[in-house]
Amino acid sequence: MDLATIEEREYAGKKVFVRVDFNVPLDKNLAITDDTRIVAVIPTIEYLLKKGASLILASHLGRPQGAPSKEFSLKPVALRLAELLRRPVTFADDCIGTEVKKRAEQLKSGDILLLENLRFHPEEEKNDKEFSRSLASLADAYVNDAFGTSHRAHASITGVPFFLIDKAAGFLIKKEVEALSRIQNNPERPLLVIVGGSKASDKIAVLKKLISKIDTVLTGGVVAYTFVKAKNWAVGNSKVDEAAIPNAKEIIRITYKLHNEFHTPLDHLITNKVAEDGDAIFTDRGTVPKGWTGVDIGPQAIEEYRDCISRAKTIFWNGPMGIFEIPKFSKGTIAIAKAVAESNAYTVVGGGDSIAAVHMANVADKISHICTGGGASLEFLEKNSLPGIDVLTLKDTTS
Ligand code: ADP
Ligand code: MG
Repeated sequence: MDLATIEEREYAGKKVFVRVDFNVPLDKNLAITDDTRIVAVIPTIEYLLKKGASLILASHLGRPQGAPSKEFSLKPVALRLAELLRRPVTFADDCIGTEVKKRAEQLKSGDILLLENLRFHPEEEKNDKEFSRSLASLADAYVNDAFGTSHRAHASITGVPFFLIDKAAGFLIKKEVEALSRIQNNPERPLLVIVGGSKASDKIAVLKKLISKIDTVLTGGVVAYTFVKAKNWAVGNSKVDEAAIPNAKEIIRITYKLHNEFHTPLDHLITNKVAEDGDAIFTDRGTVPKGWTGVDIGPQAIEEYRDCISRAKTIFWNGPMGIFEIPKFSKGTIAIAKAVAESNAYTVVGGGDSIAAVHMANVADKISHICTGGGASLEFLEKNSLPGIDVLTLKDTTS
C-alpha cells in the first residue's frame, strides 16, 4: 500500500490538523482511568513539533449524541496531554466557530491547541461537507493518527482531508497498517484466527469474507453460541446473535468445502445465573442444556484450542472466550491469552476487551502487536484498507 506518512512531508511553520483518538475511559469524577490512547500518539505529536509545526488536535470521546455535555468533554485530556508532553496545551471549548478560528490563526510553531469533542456536532458523524470545510479551514495540512476510528466515514476522517491537499498518516496508523498487512498479505501459515466476544453480527460478516484465506478458526463467546445455534445444536439461554445465523451457516458450509479447520467449543462452562454467585458447571459436550447459559469455554475446548494455537505460525485474536469480567468465568479467556503469548507465531491482538484480557493475563509484552482498534482491525483484514486510510494513499483519487 502506498501510504503517505508524515516522514515524507515538511511541516516547518505549518498549522497541522491532527485527527487523534483520545476516546479514553473516564470515571464518575471525570478522571482518566487509562491513558493508553493518549500515550500512543505522543510519537506523532513530538515529531510534528520537532519539525516546526503548530498543532490543532481533534478527537471524539464517547457517544454524546451530537450535543455538548460536560460528561464527554475532552478538557481532562488537555491536562493529561500537557503532563505527558511537559509543555502547555491550550483547550478550545468548541471545534468550529469564530473563536476557534481566531485561536488557530494565532498559533505559533510549537503551540498545541486541543479542540472540544467533534461529536458535540451531529455533522461529524454525518460527514457533513460544510462542517468538514470549517475544520479544514483551521489548518494548512492534515494528519490522521486515529486508527481505531478510520473505518468510519466521518467528517474528521474522510471529510477534512478532502479539503487539504497536504495529508498524511501518523506513526500509529503506520504501525497498525504494517502489523495487519503482515496478516493480510501472504501470512506465514497456518494462519489462525480466534473470534469471540459479542458484536457477533459484525464479526461473523467479516469472517465470511475472510474465511477462504484462513487455515483455522477458533470461536468463543456470543460468536461461538451463534455458530452452535447455526448447527442446530441446543444453546439453552446462551446469548446468540440471531441476525448473524444465515452468515454463520454459510461459513460452516464454506469450511466443509474448503476443508479448513473450524472449531466451536467442545465443552462449555455454564451457569444458572450470570453473576459471581451463580452455580457454574462444565458440560461434557458442545451443547448447552435448557435453563443454563454458556459463559466460557470448557477444559476440553481449552486443550483443543491450545493445540491449534501451538501449531499456528500467524495468529489474529479478537474477542474474549467468555464473560471474563466475572473472575469465575474468565479461565478460558486467560488460558487463550497465555497460549497466544507463549506461541512462536506472529501474534496480533485487537479490540478493547481483548486487550484488557491480555493485560489481565499479564502477557501484553509477549504479544507481537497489540492493535488499538477492534472493529477497524477486522475491517482492515477484510479490505486491506479503511476509508480513512484510502484518503491518505499516494494514489490521489480526489482530483
Ligand atoms: P472486543 O472489545 O475485544 O472487540 P467485544 O466487545 O466484541 O470484544 O466482546 C467483549 C464482551 O463480550 C465482553 O464484555 C464479554 O463479557 C462479552 N461476552 C463474551 N462471552 C460472552 C457470552 N458467552 N455471553 C455474553 N457475553 C459474552
Ligand atoms: Mg469491546
